[in-house]
Amino acid sequence: MRKQLVALLIEKGIRDTSILQAIGKVPRHFFIDSQLDKFAYQDMAFKIDAGQTISQPYTVARQTELLQVEKGMKVLEIGTGSGYQTCILVELGARVYTIERQRQLYDKAKIQLSRMNYHPKFYFGDGYAGLPAFAPFDRILVTCGAPKIPQALLDQLKPGGIMVIPVGEGEIQIMKVIRKDLQGNIQINDEGTYRFVPMLKNKSGT
Ligand code: SAH
Repeated sequence: MRKQLVALLIEKGIRDTSILQAIGKVPRHFFIDSQLDKFAYQDMAFKIDAGQTISQPYTVARQTELLQVEKGMKVLEIGTGSGYQTCILVELGARVYTIERQRQLYDKAKIQLSRMNYHPKFYFGDGYAGLPAFAPFDRILVTCGAPKIPQALLDQLKPGGIMVIPVGEGEIQIMKVIRKDLQGNIQINDEGTYRFVPMLKNKSGT
């Protein structure tokens, strides 16, 4: 089933072989309600806990492709959610720092990933603030829809770095690829429309 999903993603235009390999390897059915596991390798988003979603595989693949991750890079992910995207980043050899604002999801992803032997650094907190203590980051990936580009995240992007973030006030966002050059100048490209759950402020749950 994972091979079929990879074939479908190739058909949909994903070209990066290391990303296709990662998707071919990470068992997505571990992240989805067991009653739905026969659908786990369809190119669909699913509800997870706390009213959130695990992104569609195409979206995971495309965001990761736009991020241009290389082995050993320090990557900040905002919106751990199920942790599936986190696993893909770890598979690519990134040193991943991931932040989630929903306690329930943070707890669950931490247990799930360590069972699967994936060991990113997990943070329960507000992604709007990023992780200034660990900045700068080579790459920043936001997996929730932000009303605008958070300044703190821009500040924590290393010169020469790339941030991928869906930006929009409503239900639909535009995928922005933000490049910071070595002088600190910012260049932004639009890469199509997507539908993410909103990026919300502050932590939720105790
Ligand atoms: N990458 C995830 C997608 C999860 S959906 C996956 O593959 O499963 C987006 C997640 O972003 C949700 O879990 C939501 O709770 C989280 N989120 C929303 N606003 C946030 C914020 N300010 N800081 C951290 N996480 C946030």
